[in-house]
Amino acid sequence: MKSVLTIGEILVEIMATDRGDGFLEPVPLIGPFPSGAPAIFIDQAARFGQPAAMIGCVGDDDFGRVNLNRLRRDGVDVSGIRIDPEAVTGSAFVRYRPDGSRAFVYNIKQSASGRIELDAAARAALARSDHLHVMGTALFSPAIVAAVLEAAEAIKARGGTISFDPNLRPEMLRLPGLSEACDALFRRCDLYLPSGEELTLFTVAGTEEGAVAEILRGGVRAVVHKKGAEGAVYHDAATRLVQPAFAVEEVDPTGAGDCFGATFVSCWLRDRPPAECLAYAAAAGALAVTRQGPMEGAATRAELDAFLAARSGRPAQ
Ligand code: ATP
Ligand code: MG
Repeated sequence: MKSVLTIGEILVEIMATDRGDGFLEPVPLIGPFPSGAPAIFIDQAARFGQPAAMIGCVGDDDFGRVNLNRLRRDGVDVSGIRIDPEAVTGSAFVRYRPDGSRAFVYNIKQSASGRIELDAAARAALARSDHLHVMGTALFSPAIVAAVLEAAEAIKARGGTISFDPNLRPEMLRLPGLSEACDALFRRCDLYLPSGEELTLFTVAGTEEGAVAEILRGGVRAVVHKKGAEGAVYHDAATRLVQPAFAVEEVDPTGAGDCFGATFVSCWLRDRPPAECLAYAAAAGALAVTRQGPMEGAATRAELDAFLAARSGRPAQ
């Protein structure tokens, strides 16, 4: 089976238990939960049964250990995750506002995640991998951009494949070099997984149809456009498929896109038909939002099969 690798931030998420306006007074908190978009992605890929590895960096602290323990438990190869004794594991304090938007206090760039490098262990993990998944959130420093681009070249040179989820938060768009880095990944990817308006981030065309045609002409093999509770649409040169979202009670939306993407990529790497990839991915996205905590809703293949069977979705063959 093909193995999937990701590179990027690992952090803990600590969330306010009630809604409100940020952190200007003491509030009850719950956490630490293992987190970081690439970490959620790779945990879900491993839970689905795909050989999965990650390159990242954590401190020699409990926030690092809570992540390493979870990833290891779920079957991720963590040998490419460096433990830096001089650094502290990343963190994000999160509070939902009354309108459902989120207020964050991040420590990522200055954390151990800012010290990711392609050391010998990371290069060994890279050499064992067939597919690289990149999330835009990981491209927050020139050093990480260089590591990701080098990994992308190495994977491509061996005939491997790349998927790219821009996953951009508005406050990141101002980071120096980020849009150039995203553009470079966009041009190298085989599978493009934008959400909402990210579809037209790199296109001249401003419409959905025009943007998809332009992206496919540029060499991307397939586009999966994520639309939250409205579902997702798959496009390749021959096909357009709509996958509605499954109706579930949303407890915490964090991680839906990452779980959806990991499951889609895992099925796609097994050469399953696009409709089956979409059904599993939508089930993973739906299950992800039913649990509090970013990585807590990552589901096993058996859990996804049971969910699909109960919903008369497309069950496993
Ligand atoms: P993220 O906020 O994690 O970056 P995203 O924008 O990348 O998310 P979404 O489009 O929000 O991705 O979610 C991906 C998929 O997960 C959707 O296409 C849908 O199938 C499923 N999903 C997301 N939210 C819900 C929901 N509230 N109910 C059911 N399914 C959902
Ligand atoms: Mg996303």
